[in-house]
Amino acid sequence: MSDAPLPCSIPPDRLTEAASLLAQGGLVAFPTETVYGLGGDATSDSAVAAIFAAKGRPSFNPLISHVASVEAAAALVEFGPLAQALAARFWPGPLTLVLPRRSDSPISLLATAGLDSIAVRMPDHPIALALIRAFGRPLAAPSANRSGAVSPTTAAHVAQSLGDKVGMILDGGPCRVGVESTVLDLTGPVPLLLRPGGIALEELEAVLGTRPARPSPEAGSPTAPRAPGMLSSHYAPTLPVRLDASDAAPGEAVLGFGPGDATLNLSPSGDPTEAAANLFSMLRALDRPDFTGIAVRPIPDAGLGLAINDRLRRAAAPRG
Ligand code: AMP
Ligand code: MG
Repeated sequence: MSDAPLPCSIPPDRLTEAASLLAQGGLVAFPTETVYGLGGDATSDSAVAAIFAAKGRPSFNPLISHVASVEAAAALVEFGPLAQALAARFWPGPLTLVLPRRSDSPISLLATAGLDSIAVRMPDHPIALALIRAFGRPLAAPSANRSGAVSPTTAAHVAQSLGDKVGMILDGGPCRVGVESTVLDLTGPVPLLLRPGGIALEELEAVLGTRPARPSPEAGSPTAPRAPGMLSSHYAPTLPVRLDASDAAPGEAVLGFGPGDATLNLSPSGDPTEAAANLFSMLRALDRPDFTGIAVRPIPDAGLGLAINDRLRRAAAPRG
Protein backbone atom coordinates (compact mmCIF):
# COMPACT_ATOMS: atom_id res chain seq x y z
CA MET A 1 0.00 0.00 0.00
CA SER A 2 1.19 3.53 -0.65
CA ASP A 3 1.48 6.18 2.02
CA ALA A 4 -0.95 8.43 0.16
CA PRO A 5 -3.65 9.83 2.44
CA LEU A 6 -6.72 7.60 2.51
CA PRO A 7 -10.24 8.95 2.45
CA CYS A 8 -10.99 9.34 6.12
CA SER A 9 -13.98 10.91 7.82
CA ILE A 10 -11.90 12.53 10.56
CA PRO A 11 -10.81 16.12 9.75
CA PRO A 12 -7.02 16.48 9.38
CA ASP A 13 -6.70 18.87 12.34
CA ARG A 14 -8.38 16.33 14.63
CA LEU A 15 -5.96 13.63 13.46
CA THR A 16 -3.06 16.01 14.15
CA GLU A 17 -4.48 16.65 17.61
CA ALA A 18 -4.81 12.90 18.23
CA ALA A 19 -1.23 12.29 17.05
CA SER A 20 0.16 14.94 19.37
CA LEU A 21 -1.83 13.51 22.28
CA LEU A 22 -0.26 10.10 21.53
CA ALA A 23 3.20 11.69 21.32
CA GLN A 24 2.68 13.03 24.86
CA GLY A 25 1.89 9.51 26.12
CA GLY A 26 -1.88 10.02 25.99
CA LEU A 27 -4.54 7.52 24.91
CA VAL A 28 -6.79 7.73 21.86
CA ALA A 29 -9.69 5.36 21.19
CA PHE A 30 -10.12 4.65 17.49
CA PRO A 31 -12.23 2.43 15.24
CA THR A 32 -10.84 -0.61 13.45
CA GLU A 33 -12.76 -3.11 11.32
CA THR A 34 -12.86 -5.52 14.30
CA VAL A 35 -13.64 -3.49 17.45
CA TYR A 36 -12.66 -0.08 18.84
CA GLY A 37 -9.08 0.01 20.10
CA LEU A 38 -7.60 1.90 23.04
CA GLY A 39 -4.43 3.20 21.40
CA GLY A 40 -1.18 4.34 22.92
CA ASP A 41 2.44 4.65 21.76
CA ALA A 42 3.61 1.02 21.51
CA THR A 43 7.23 2.12 21.98
CA SER A 44 6.55 3.85 25.32
CA ASP A 45 6.45 1.86 28.59
CA SER A 46 4.49 4.64 30.29
CA ALA A 47 1.87 4.94 27.53
CA VAL A 48 1.41 1.14 27.63
CA ALA A 49 1.11 1.24 31.43
CA ALA A 50 -1.59 3.88 31.01
CA ILE A 51 -3.49 1.49 28.71
CA PHE A 52 -3.40 -1.29 31.32
CA ALA A 53 -4.43 1.19 34.05
CA ALA A 54 -7.36 2.50 31.99
CA LYS A 55 -8.60 -1.03 31.27
CA GLY A 56 -8.14 -2.14 34.88
CA ARG A 57 -6.41 -5.32 33.66
CA PRO A 58 -5.51 -7.66 36.53
CA SER A 59 -2.54 -9.05 34.60
CA PHE A 60 -0.38 -7.83 31.74
CA ASN A 61 -1.65 -9.59 28.62
CA PRO A 62 0.62 -8.83 25.71
CA LEU A 63 -0.85 -6.20 23.37
CA ILE A 64 -1.02 -6.13 19.60
CA SER A 65 1.15 -3.50 17.85
CA HIS A 66 -0.86 -1.91 15.06
CA VAL A 67 1.00 -0.74 11.95
CA ALA A 68 0.04 0.92 8.67
CA SER A 69 2.23 -1.14 6.32
CA VAL A 70 4.11 -4.43 5.96
CA GLU A 71 7.37 -2.45 5.96
CA ALA A 72 6.50 -0.94 9.35
CA ALA A 73 5.84 -4.45 10.73
CA ALA A 74 9.14 -5.72 9.33
CA ALA A 75 10.96 -3.05 11.38
CA LEU A 76 9.54 -4.60 14.59
CA VAL A 77 9.69 -8.36 14.01
CA GLU A 78 11.41 -11.00 11.85
CA PHE A 79 8.95 -10.92 8.97
CA GLY A 80 9.71 -14.19 7.16
CA PRO A 81 8.32 -15.64 3.91
CA LEU A 82 5.23 -17.17 5.54
CA ALA A 83 4.39 -13.87 7.22
CA GLN A 84 4.91 -12.12 3.87
CA ALA A 85 2.52 -14.53 2.15
CA LEU A 86 -0.15 -14.18 4.87
CA ALA A 87 0.15 -10.39 4.92
CA ALA A 88 -0.07 -10.24 1.13
CA ARG A 89 -3.36 -12.13 1.32
CA PHE A 90 -4.97 -10.78 4.50
CA TRP A 91 -3.53 -7.32 5.27
CA PRO A 92 -4.97 -4.90 5.87
CA GLY A 93 -7.38 -7.10 7.79
CA PRO A 94 -8.31 -8.98 10.97
CA LEU A 95 -5.25 -11.27 11.11
CA THR A 96 -2.66 -10.76 13.86
CA LEU A 97 0.73 -12.41 13.40
CA VAL A 98 2.93 -13.29 16.38
CA LEU A 99 6.55 -13.17 15.21
CA PRO A 100 10.04 -13.13 16.75
CA ARG A 101 11.01 -9.74 18.13
CA ARG A 102 13.84 -8.05 16.21
CA SER A 103 16.79 -7.25 18.43
CA ASP A 104 16.51 -3.57 17.45
CA SER A 105 12.73 -3.49 17.89
CA PRO A 106 11.54 -0.30 19.61
CA ILE A 107 8.37 -1.93 21.03
CA SER A 108 7.90 -1.55 24.80
CA LEU A 109 8.73 -4.66 26.85
CA LEU A 110 5.55 -4.05 28.82
CA ALA A 111 3.50 -4.18 25.60
CA THR A 112 4.79 -7.72 24.99
CA ALA A 113 4.63 -8.71 28.69
CA GLY A 114 8.33 -9.49 28.47
CA LEU A 115 7.91 -12.13 25.73
CA ASP A 116 10.50 -12.24 22.96
CA SER A 117 7.75 -12.23 20.35
CA ILE A 118 5.51 -9.39 19.19
CA ALA A 119 1.96 -9.53 17.84
CA VAL A 120 1.51 -7.25 14.81
CA ARG A 121 -1.48 -6.32 12.69
CA MET A 122 -2.41 -3.87 9.96
CA PRO A 123 -6.05 -2.93 10.52
CA ASP A 124 -8.42 -2.47 7.59
CA HIS A 125 -9.95 0.85 8.54
CA PRO A 126 -9.21 4.25 7.01
CA ILE A 127 -9.33 6.06 10.38
CA ALA A 128 -7.02 3.55 12.09
CA LEU A 129 -4.53 3.73 9.21
CA ALA A 130 -4.69 7.52 9.01
CA LEU A 131 -4.10 7.79 12.78
CA ILE A 132 -1.09 5.42 12.72
CA ARG A 133 0.38 7.32 9.75
CA ALA A 134 -0.19 10.70 11.38
CA PHE A 135 1.49 9.46 14.56
CA GLY A 136 4.33 7.78 12.69
CA ARG A 137 4.84 4.97 15.21
CA PRO A 138 3.07 1.67 15.98
CA LEU A 139 0.03 1.82 18.27
CA ALA A 140 -0.52 -0.69 21.05
CA ALA A 141 -4.28 -1.13 21.14
CA PRO A 142 -6.36 -3.66 23.05
CA SER A 143 -10.12 -3.38 22.88
CA ALA A 144 -11.34 -0.07 24.32
CA ASN A 145 -13.31 -1.41 27.28
CA ARG A 146 -12.76 -2.10 30.96
CA SER A 147 -11.15 -5.48 31.52
CA GLY A 148 -13.72 -8.27 31.47
CA ALA A 149 -16.39 -6.16 29.77
CA VAL A 150 -17.76 -6.72 26.29
CA SER A 151 -15.68 -5.34 23.42
CA PRO A 152 -16.94 -2.00 22.05
CA THR A 153 -18.13 -1.78 18.46
CA THR A 154 -19.34 1.84 18.54
CA ALA A 155 -17.87 5.07 19.88
CA ALA A 156 -20.78 5.25 22.35
CA HIS A 157 -19.74 1.89 23.85
CA VAL A 158 -16.24 3.30 24.38
CA ALA A 159 -17.59 6.43 26.01
CA GLN A 160 -19.77 4.33 28.37
CA SER A 161 -16.92 2.03 29.36
CA LEU A 162 -13.89 4.33 29.38
CA GLY A 163 -15.17 7.85 28.78
CA ASP A 164 -13.21 9.50 31.57
CA LYS A 165 -10.05 7.43 30.99
CA VAL A 166 -9.33 8.25 27.36
CA GLY A 167 -7.99 11.53 25.98
CA MET A 168 -9.96 11.38 22.76
CA ILE A 169 -12.44 9.10 20.98
CA LEU A 170 -12.41 9.08 17.18
CA ASP A 171 -15.89 8.11 15.96
CA GLY A 172 -15.98 5.98 12.81
CA GLY A 173 -19.45 4.54 13.28
CA PRO A 174 -20.08 0.86 13.95
CA CYS A 175 -17.29 -1.69 13.33
CA ARG A 176 -17.69 -3.85 10.24
CA VAL A 177 -16.35 -7.17 11.59
CA GLY A 178 -17.27 -6.80 15.26
CA VAL A 179 -15.11 -9.64 16.59
CA GLU A 180 -11.43 -9.46 17.42
CA SER A 181 -8.70 -10.47 15.01
CA THR A 182 -7.55 -14.04 14.47
CA VAL A 183 -4.19 -14.48 16.25
CA LEU A 184 -1.68 -16.78 14.54
CA ASP A 185 1.65 -17.60 16.17
CA LEU A 186 4.45 -18.12 13.64
CA THR A 187 7.33 -18.33 16.12
CA GLY A 188 7.41 -22.15 16.36
CA PRO A 189 7.91 -25.05 13.97
CA VAL A 190 4.22 -25.03 12.95
CA PRO A 191 1.70 -22.16 12.84
CA LEU A 192 -0.51 -22.07 15.96
CA LEU A 193 -3.96 -20.59 16.17
CA LEU A 194 -3.90 -18.71 19.49
CA ARG A 195 -7.29 -17.06 19.02
CA PRO A 196 -10.02 -17.61 16.45
CA GLY A 197 -11.29 -14.30 15.07
CA GLY A 198 -12.17 -12.23 12.05
CA ILE A 199 -10.30 -14.43 9.52
CA ALA A 200 -11.80 -17.91 9.25
CA LEU A 201 -9.70 -21.03 9.74
CA GLU A 202 -10.62 -22.24 6.25
CA GLU A 203 -9.21 -19.05 4.72
CA LEU A 204 -5.94 -19.47 6.62
CA GLU A 205 -5.76 -23.10 5.62
CA ALA A 206 -5.92 -22.12 1.96
CA VAL A 207 -2.72 -20.07 2.30
CA LEU A 208 -0.90 -22.28 4.82
CA GLY A 209 -1.67 -25.51 2.97
CA THR A 210 -2.60 -27.09 6.32
CA ARG A 211 -4.94 -26.35 9.17
CA PRO A 212 -3.13 -24.40 11.90
CA ALA A 213 -2.63 -26.33 15.17
CA ARG A 214 -4.24 -25.24 18.43
CA PRO A 215 -1.99 -24.67 21.46
CA SER A 216 -1.77 -27.69 23.74
CA PRO A 217 -3.76 -27.22 26.96
CA GLU A 218 -0.89 -28.37 29.22
CA ALA A 219 0.53 -24.98 30.03
CA GLY A 220 4.09 -25.18 31.13
CA SER A 221 4.90 -28.56 29.59
CA PRO A 222 8.18 -28.46 27.68
CA THR A 223 6.35 -28.96 24.40
CA ALA A 224 3.60 -26.48 25.14
CA PRO A 225 3.55 -23.38 22.96
CA ARG A 226 4.40 -20.08 24.51
CA ALA A 227 0.88 -18.83 24.76
CA PRO A 228 0.31 -15.70 26.82
CA GLY A 229 -0.78 -15.96 30.41
CA MET A 230 0.85 -19.36 30.86
CA LEU A 231 3.48 -19.53 33.53
CA SER A 232 6.22 -20.88 31.27
CA SER A 233 5.48 -18.32 28.60
CA HIS A 234 6.51 -15.22 30.42
CA TYR A 235 9.93 -13.81 30.76
CA ALA A 236 11.34 -14.92 34.10
CA PRO A 237 14.73 -13.58 35.13
CA THR A 238 17.62 -16.04 35.38
CA LEU A 239 18.11 -14.99 39.02
CA PRO A 240 15.75 -16.11 41.79
CA VAL A 241 13.12 -13.52 42.67
CA ARG A 242 12.07 -12.97 46.30
CA LEU A 243 8.82 -11.08 46.93
CA ASP A 244 7.68 -8.81 49.79
CA ALA A 245 11.29 -8.37 50.85
CA SER A 246 11.71 -6.02 53.80
CA ASP A 247 15.48 -6.65 53.88
CA ALA A 248 18.17 -7.63 51.38
CA ALA A 249 20.63 -10.51 51.66
CA PRO A 250 24.26 -9.81 50.75
CA GLY A 251 24.66 -9.92 46.98
CA GLU A 252 20.95 -9.44 46.27
CA ALA A 253 19.73 -6.62 44.04
CA VAL A 254 16.81 -4.68 45.47
CA LEU A 255 13.89 -3.70 43.27
CA GLY A 256 12.29 -0.87 45.19
CA PHE A 257 8.82 0.62 45.35
CA GLY A 258 8.17 3.82 47.24
CA PRO A 259 10.77 5.69 49.30
CA GLY A 260 13.85 3.83 50.53
CA ASP A 261 17.15 2.36 49.33
CA ALA A 262 17.05 0.22 46.23
CA THR A 263 19.31 -0.87 43.39
CA LEU A 264 16.55 0.27 41.03
CA ASN A 265 13.23 1.75 42.05
CA LEU A 266 9.99 0.98 40.18
CA SER A 267 8.46 4.18 41.51
CA PRO A 268 10.08 6.23 44.28
CA SER A 269 6.74 8.00 44.81
CA GLY A 270 4.83 4.69 45.03
CA ASP A 271 2.78 5.22 41.85
CA PRO A 272 1.65 1.79 40.53
CA THR A 273 1.21 3.03 36.93
CA GLU A 274 4.79 4.34 36.88
CA ALA A 275 5.93 1.06 38.47
CA ALA A 276 4.17 -1.00 35.80
CA ALA A 277 5.91 1.00 33.09
CA ASN A 278 9.30 0.16 34.62
CA LEU A 279 8.64 -3.44 35.64
CA PHE A 280 9.94 -5.51 32.73
CA SER A 281 12.87 -3.28 31.82
CA MET A 282 14.06 -3.10 35.47
CA LEU A 283 13.72 -6.88 35.98
CA ARG A 284 15.91 -7.30 32.91
CA ALA A 285 18.41 -4.70 34.06
CA LEU A 286 18.81 -6.40 37.47
CA ASP A 287 19.19 -9.89 36.00
CA ARG A 288 23.00 -9.77 36.10
CA PRO A 289 25.50 -12.47 37.10
CA ASP A 290 27.08 -10.20 39.72
CA PHE A 291 23.89 -10.39 41.81
CA THR A 292 22.71 -13.53 43.62
CA GLY A 293 19.00 -12.76 43.40
CA ILE A 294 16.39 -10.01 43.12
CA ALA A 295 14.59 -8.91 46.29
CA VAL A 296 11.38 -7.03 45.55
CA ARG A 297 9.92 -4.61 48.09
CA PRO A 298 6.22 -5.06 48.95
CA ILE A 299 3.83 -3.53 46.41
CA PRO A 300 0.19 -2.85 47.38
CA ASP A 301 -2.48 -4.44 45.18
CA ALA A 302 -4.10 -1.06 44.42
CA GLY A 303 -4.51 -0.01 40.75
CA LEU A 304 -1.93 -1.68 38.52
CA GLY A 305 -0.36 -3.14 41.68
CA LEU A 306 -2.57 -6.20 41.24
CA ALA A 307 -1.20 -6.82 37.73
CA ILE A 308 2.37 -6.12 38.87
CA ASN A 309 2.04 -8.64 41.70
CA ASP A 310 0.46 -11.21 39.37
CA ARG A 311 3.44 -10.85 37.07
CA LEU A 312 5.98 -10.90 39.91
CA ARG A 313 4.45 -14.07 41.37
CA ARG A 314 5.05 -15.76 38.00
CA ALA A 315 8.64 -14.48 37.96
CA ALA A 316 9.17 -15.82 41.51
CA ALA A 317 7.39 -19.16 41.00
CA PRO A 318 9.47 -22.35 41.26
CA ARG A 319 11.17 -23.03 37.95
CA GLY A 320 10.14 -26.15 36.04
P1 AMP B 1 -6.55 -7.89 22.52
O1 AMP B 1 -5.52 -6.83 22.67
O2 AMP B 1 -7.56 -7.90 23.63
O3 AMP B 1 -7.16 -7.90 21.15
O4 AMP B 1 -5.79 -9.27 22.66
C1 AMP B 1 -4.54 -9.46 22.06
C2 AMP B 1 -4.38 -10.93 21.81
O5 AMP B 1 -3.10 -11.17 21.21
C3 AMP B 1 -4.44 -11.72 23.09
O6 AMP B 1 -5.06 -12.96 22.84
C4 AMP B 1 -2.97 -11.88 23.39
O7 AMP B 1 -2.75 -12.93 24.27
C5 AMP B 1 -2.39 -12.08 22.00
N1 AMP B 1 -0.96 -11.71 21.92
C6 AMP B 1 -0.45 -10.47 21.88
N2 AMP B 1 0.89 -10.49 21.84
C7 AMP B 1 1.25 -11.78 21.85
C8 AMP B 1 2.51 -12.47 21.82
N3 AMP B 1 3.67 -11.81 21.78
N4 AMP B 1 2.48 -13.81 21.85
C9 AMP B 1 1.32 -14.47 21.87
N5 AMP B 1 0.11 -13.88 21.90
C10 AMP B 1 0.07 -12.56 21.89
MG1 MG C 1 -10.67 -7.34 24.76
